[in-house]
Amino acid sequence: MSGGGEPCPVIADAGLIASAYARYLSDESSLAGGMPARILLPRSVGELSTAVRDAAGRAGSVTVSGGRTGIVGGAVPRGGEDLVSTGGLVGNPRPRWSDEHGSWMVAVPAGITLDALRAFLVSSELPPGLAYPVDPTEGGATVGGSVATNASGARTLRYGPTRDWVLGMSVVLADGSVVHLERGRAGAAAVPEVLRGLHAPGVRLPATKHAAGYRLTGDPVDLFIGCEGTLGVIAEVDLRLCEVPKGIAGVCAFLPDPAGCPDLVAGLKAGLGPDLLALEYFDARSLRLLSAWRAEAREASGVPALPDTPGGMLYVEMPYDGEAQLEKLADRLTGMLAAHGVDGAATWAAFEPDELAAMRTLRHALPERVNRLVAARAAGVPGLTKLATDLAVPDPALPAMMETYRRVFADAGLEHVIFGHIGNAHLHANLLPSTVEEIGRGRAACLELARAAVALGGSVSGEHGIGKLKKALLAIQYTPAELAELRSVKDRLDPCGVLNPGVLW
Ligand SMILES: Cc1cc2nc3c(=O)[nH]c(=O)nc-3n(C[C@H](O)[C@H](O)[C@H](O)COP(=O)(O)OP(=O)(O)OC[C@H]3O[C@@H](n4cnc5c(N)ncnc54)[C@H](O)[C@@H]3O)c2cc1C
Repeated sequence: MSGGGEPCPVIADAGLIASAYARYLSDESSLAGGMPARILLPRSVGELSTAVRDAAGRAGSVTVSGGRTGIVGGAVPRGGEDLVSTGGLVGNPRPRWSDEHGSWMVAVPAGITLDALRAFLVSSELPPGLAYPVDPTEGGATVGGSVATNASGARTLRYGPTRDWVLGMSVVLADGSVVHLERGRAGAAAVPEVLRGLHAPGVRLPATKHAAGYRLTGDPVDLFIGCEGTLGVIAEVDLRLCEVPKGIAGVCAFLPDPAGCPDLVAGLKAGLGPDLLALEYFDARSLRLLSAWRAEAREASGVPALPDTPGGMLYVEMPYDGEAQLEKLADRLTGMLAAHGVDGAATWAAFEPDELAAMRTLRHALPERVNRLVAARAAGVPGLTKLATDLAVPDPALPAMMETYRRVFADAGLEHVIFGHIGNAHLHANLLPSTVEEIGRGRAACLELARAAVALGGSVSGEHGIGKLKKALLAIQYTPAELAELRSVKDRLDPCGVLNPGVLW
């Protein structure tokens, strides 16, 4: 363990914070935060350590801010604390071969964005085709933020969540001390006593994607992944790299009938298995919202003219190596889609990078559009916020969960869209409220959906985390005894509540 000693740039002028540094006051959630006492901009692990140590010494607290693409308000300051941005932790990533792991890995400062990491890996002298494969949609997310939230995304279907790719990290603890952790080395001399023995087999975990609460495997690396900055500030991460496919084909299939969708998804997973990189869903309402936006903004929307389809859309991504394999895959996929009434002539396929990028833009356009629409409505209605679910269920429970969405929203009469990672039985419902009264009904609907997901063996958060906005969901996921066990970890590692007050707890 080591500590810092160096001070870092500090912005303490409230006027300046409210103007030139206003971007630090919000994230992609609609949470209205408070004014931090100061903004600290560390440029090294030492400066980060000093910032945390200083807050701990004054009995103060810090809110940790990464790329601020989070949608549960975790990086939004409460007011009165120090806001510590990791955005200055951006030295060059350092790739190296690991004999122990039999793979290439890269040490990445926490403030590097996923886009910057990707660009670095392409331009570096690493063997061609190596990449960090987790793709949580927003390339502006930082590596530290994506580890802190155990981010996942569309290609998690093939590659798993961030957790599966983290081999180690340097982390600043609540007293400002810095510790370097390596996966599988829980007993190493460098691991402080406070991080030892944190193993809780009694805390049940859903057999799904899961980003709610701590993962107590006994390996301290797991502890900090998905802890949302409540146990430590991640300063640098060792990520495993892998060879990514030479070719990727993307297919947008427009469904005649939403009722057949769970069946089709199960069929595609059984039939294509490891030949699937991503399997994503847009319901009919999502497509209508995008079409309306295109009608309004034309090309600037990034949305192509969509077929007039009642049932929704599946986006399928498949890796291939050469024309012959691509043809075989295309035949199998076409057959499976046709068996579910999908019109091959109205199906879009993309193989070239620019075509795939256009499909990616289309998928990204929906959450962006929802956020802007709600923000525009909120400008005229104080108290209006977006409400969204992030519920994942085990695969066999997908049909029941989709039926529950249909029933709950029909009963509540709420405008909404449903989209997301259907290949992992992990959909996002986004509500589009127009009045504060609808917010109340929407909250009740989201809680009912969360209880249904957990009853089906699922998770209240597949990837976005709990943050400041979704704390009520923890009591749905865990029993009081499990919650007490998780809470005891926070009390042990951060007894004075220095790190991210108001997040998770
Ligand atoms: C349009 C859109 C699409 C999205 N799609 C996905 C998706 O497909 N999958 C997915 O998983 N997420 C998705 N997200 C959510 C978001 O991009 C991820 O949660 C991302 O990992 C957050 O990274 P960040 O750097 O922006 O973190 P921030 O938003 O800055 O912070 C998120 C949380 O992590 C903490 N934190 C940040 N950095 C550190 C650090 N170095 N050490 C400790 N704690 C830290 C913060 O305090 C906060 O609690 C999406 C968001 C948007 C807006």
